[in-house]
Amino acid sequence: MYILVINSGSSSVKYKLFDVRNNAELAKGIVERIGLDKSSLTQQAFSKDEIRLNRRVTDHNQAIKFALQMLAHEQYGAIRNTDEIAACGHRVVHGGEEFSGSVVITGRVMKAIKSHFDIAPLHNPPNLLGIKVAKKLLPKIRHVAVFDTAFHQTIPPSAFLYGLPYSFYEKDKIRRYGFHGTSHRYVAQRASEILKRPQSRLKLITVHLGNGCSITAVKNGKSINTSMGFTPLEGLVMGTRSGDIDPAVVFHLMHKKKLSYYAIDELLNKKSGLLGMSEVGSDMRDVYNAVKKGNRKARLAFEVFIDRIHKYVGSYAVAMDGVDAIVFTAGIGENHAPTRAAVCRNLSFLGVRLDAAKNNSSVKEKIITTAGSKTKVLVVPTNEELLIAQETHKFVK
Ligand code: ADP
Repeated sequence: MYILVINSGSSSVKYKLFDVRNNAELAKGIVERIGLDKSSLTQQAFSKDEIRLNRRVTDHNQAIKFALQMLAHEQYGAIRNTDEIAACGHRVVHGGEEFSGSVVITGRVMKAIKSHFDIAPLHNPPNLLGIKVAKKLLPKIRHVAVFDTAFHQTIPPSAFLYGLPYSFYEKDKIRRYGFHGTSHRYVAQRASEILKRPQSRLKLITVHLGNGCSITAVKNGKSINTSMGFTPLEGLVMGTRSGDIDPAVVFHLMHKKKLSYYAIDELLNKKSGLLGMSEVGSDMRDVYNAVKKGNRKARLAFEVFIDRIHKYVGSYAVAMDGVDAIVFTAGIGENHAPTRAAVCRNLSFLGVRLDAAKNNSSVKEKIITTAGSKTKVLVVPTNEELLIAQETHKFVK
């Protein structure tokens, strides 16, 4: 049974086609620069050549139509006809407090996604646009929304409330929501399979280190705390985002430096993090190359990045009264052994014994601690799209 997964952003649409009978990825593609010059589609179907086509794509309707056409392309496609697609799963970033799981998309669901435009202005509008277009182009099948925030809806009030007057939560819904939920959930599930222990008996800390970074305490299969908050700005230091800072820094910047709301937003979201501190770049590969060449600011940026991860690992080990395994995922977590080694350096008190050879090996999915290590450390490549396909499948069976 073929399930299409769509991740619709403001200027790009990413898509993947799965056969959920064996979890096989049949094709993946991206339509980029929608509405801009030099738009293109790149697609790779299983065992076929990658194809890149430059074509003017003015809107999301054209983009998804183009993707469907190419999925059914005789030479480069993965299926004969788009009628073979049994259902379509959509990544939706913000589900607020309404959604603690995936749902079939109805008019009511679309309204709810729209009601969160103000707290997810960059993501929910293009997500909803992708849904509307896909529903129109594939009207006979079910469309399912899988929310980034849903996995974190099990976080208790003690961890999701900020120390603000309660009315700000009651009236304005200002609270911790958490993001990357599909990734944290997927790697927690995989870790339980790899460790051969049911999730109901596992205390995990899942560490998603990509361009955006977040860390989650997963106790008995449920998220009980996570580092991202009301928005994806809170928590760890990221490629270009500051993560945690004293909110009074914002008042200081407004009053002393007369920075506008927009300038501060841009400063904290786009000019900070690894990029701002190192003055080298936001990409960990560039930052770490500079570290190796003795660049002082790059070294500091790397140390701050690790320090914030330590802060949360310690906090979540306490929140769960112990930890059985720490799971690294996403671009940096999956690929950058020096980051994993630096995080594990101070964890011997938790019973972590890193195996350097395993940490440095090229195996993608692995346990990187010694056989006798009380607390295990794992690397698990994330696959949010596969989880979205599996979730969508549940509504078709
Ligand atoms: P996104 O959050 O956009 O999905 P990714 O999960 O792809 O991002 O992660 C991007 C980050 O992963 C970048 O900082 C990049 O430096 C890092 N990364 C990717 N490959 C490697 C690698 N081989 N070694 C170190 N870092 C890597």
